[in-house]
Amino acid sequence: MSKHIIMIGVISLAFSSRLRGQEVQNVPPEDCGMVCQDTQHVTELDLAWAAAGTGSADDMKGRLFTVNIPVLDAEFRAKALADLSNDVRAHRIGRGNLFRRAELILRQVAELQDRSSMTGVELFFYHDPVPAGYLWRGCIMVLSDALSDSLSDAELTGIVAHELGHAYFMGDAVAAKRSKKSSALRVVELKCDAVAIVSLKLLGHDPASFLRALQKIQLLLTRKKLSPRDPNSHPGLSERALFSQRLIQTMAS
Ligand SMILES: [Zn+2]
Repeated sequence: MSKHIIMIGVISLAFSSRLRGQEVQNVPPEDCGMVCQDTQHVTELDLAWAAAGTGSADDMKGRLFTVNIPVLDAEFRAKALADLSNDVRAHRIGRGNLFRRAELILRQVAELQDRSSMTGVELFFYHDPVPAGYLWRGCIMVLSDALSDSLSDAELTGIVAHELGHAYFMGDAVAAKRSKKSSALRVVELKCDAVAIVSLKLLGHDPASFLRALQKIQLLLTRKKLSPRDPNSHPGLSERALFSQRLIQTMAS
């Protein structure tokens, strides 16, 4: 169990600042969007598209929503909550329309992703003028009120689905971090984008809402003069747009 806890901690550090623009561990830019496989170059987008495959949203769900979500019991969740930074914990919100809306969206996505009581996820909603959303230690969905307030229901659903989707690819992400393969980390991000797009489709939302959410968040961060400081571990917005648009086109209705 302790090994498991450490691995999840590493993942959380890697992704917790995706929307906040905080400092994260630098990964050397040893590649530039291309992954060598034998003698052929395969792009990160190709790898992620291949992981989703073709067919209906249900077909893609079968490939992406694997059963490898770590089992994290109530004791682990309580420890994870206690380990959130004081700054975040001091501003928790547990009531109000925005909180209830975030709770409903999280419940819908968690049910779609077959989160059981042992792989459940708890909402931590808090006040922060910076749009922030991340999955903390695999079991706490941290969302700021600024993020929730800025996005439509569908857009917030897409962000929550992407973040929960990280649980499916923790092994890949840990291996990528250990070997300092930033390209592999970007493929994980794109796979989580695919989880978000498929989730939106299956929940009856416009799958393009996820990309709109990313665009809105980038705009908000720019206005606040904040920029993500972990560009190596995340694809650029243009790559994510290309990935999203083709995946949606590929997805049979
Ligand atoms: Zn992510």
